[in-house]
Amino acid sequence: MTRSKETGWNFDNSYARLPATFFSRINPTPVRAPKLMILNHSLAESLGLSVEALQSEEAIAVFAGNHIPEGAAPLAQAYAGHQFGHFTMLGDGRAVLLGEQITPQGERYDIQLKGPGRTPYSRGGDGRAALGPMLREYMISEAMHALGIPTTRSLAVVTTGESIMRETELPGAVLTRVAASHLRVGTFEYAKAWGTKDELQALADYTIRRHYPHIENEEHQYLSLLQEVVKRQAALIAQWQLVGFIHGVMNTDNMTISGETIDYGPCAFMDAYDPGTVFSSIDRRGRYAYGNQPRIAGWNLARFGETLLPLLHDHQEQAIELAQEEISNFATLYQSHWLAGMRAKLGLFNEEEQDEALIDRLLSLMKKYRADYTNTFRAFTLNTQAGSKLFGTPEFAEWHKLWQERLARQQESKEDANALMRKNNPALIPRNYRVEEALKAAVEQGDDSVMKRLLAVLSSPYAYSAEQNEYATLPVSTRPYQTFCGT
Ligand code: AMP
Ligand code: MG
Ligand code: MG
Repeated sequence: MTRSKETGWNFDNSYARLPATFFSRINPTPVRAPKLMILNHSLAESLGLSVEALQSEEAIAVFAGNHIPEGAAPLAQAYAGHQFGHFTMLGDGRAVLLGEQITPQGERYDIQLKGPGRTPYSRGGDGRAALGPMLREYMISEAMHALGIPTTRSLAVVTTGESIMRETELPGAVLTRVAASHLRVGTFEYAKAWGTKDELQALADYTIRRHYPHIENEEHQYLSLLQEVVKRQAALIAQWQLVGFIHGVMNTDNMTISGETIDYGPCAFMDAYDPGTVFSSIDRRGRYAYGNQPRIAGWNLARFGETLLPLLHDHQEQAIELAQEEISNFATLYQSHWLAGMRAKLGLFNEEEQDEALIDRLLSLMKKYRADYTNTFRAFTLNTQAGSKLFGTPEFAEWHKLWQERLARQQESKEDANALMRKNNPALIPRNYRVEEALKAAVEQGDDSVMKRLLAVLSSPYAYSAEQNEYATLPVSTRPYQTFCGT
């Protein structure tokens, strides 16, 4: 480990000590004129970095890929994945892992540059990223973090002073992404398809040491690994559903082993409640629609389970049986997290058998009247009945009475119930039109003030402060929102 006195970079490179099949050593391709667009001060500090020193020319050169910090061992990771159900070889085509920052607390985080130029896995791509999508990832990933949802984080975005060619010319940028690791289901799929059993085992051992050290000495540690990943993903996907987050491209290469949300390409938050909601322009059949996310996560975990079979048992049939049992737990675990979360959103502390029916009834009314998902629960929390057609209907009045009766049946006071709701119903989410507005100002007019304000309010989504109210307003346009990946 080498600690840089000024900036605080303190790299170790455990991933680079894995068998060589898992990566290619490669340096980022330098860019012409790096300029710091945004720096995440609180994240920098929590990583043990100096906010002041990170703004020097030399430090910005690190974020641009023009300078390799002492102790870093840049590489592109190899991985495979099922994209929309089809298996394929992938790898970091536009990302370079600088190494792992060891924080003063001894925690380990991947520091990855996204958009640093071509790698051996770039195929036809240029390895570059555009400013708009990198700022978008920054905003949404930081909003997810503030919502309390495990996610990769965004440390900095620099512009490169170079244009990249897409449908039009766009300003180039590099995002510095911070993650518990970039190990994916796809990393294991790669090992299973092209590695030896020893290499697969090395990857699994590495993963256990890094993310699940408490199972390291268990007799059936690879089965426990599967179990742990199932648990974390069940909790994660429930959190997505509870805030109305739609990932948009839940390919197996975009599912982490750590249980963090990763790959903010075509993601977006749902406005009106509808399980069929899809934003991504390439998801024509709605494979990754809001209501499909839990099922797809289960499917992805089955692919993960398959990769571990050689480590689970010498006899394949028994290995399959063991894996299937773990994977079948996903649906139950997910459902219990989701139900617990929904109860909390409605201020319910205890459990009654009819709760699920009560929740389903509400959701079906929300769907029927196209009620805004976030704002419906926000209105409940604020104890208002304004801003939605739903609230004026007799069906809702009937449901509301049942809900009030249910609240009255629990021991806790109305105040306690309301406090619970405040903790579980965000007053605001990164509304798509707000994100677009911020991006337009930043990218087209070079004005980052709109984005900075948005980031500031999104950093405390449960504050219910008056200054946030304007950010809870719904878009005027009812035109369907569309997202794109790969820019
Ligand atoms: P994604 O859809 O973001 O998960 O990316 C799928 C694959 O495409 C990954 O292997 C990426 O590294 C690769 N990729 C995306 N954009 C580019 C690009 N501009 N140049 C090279 N590879 C890319
Ligand atoms: Mg990806
Ligand atoms: Mg992507």
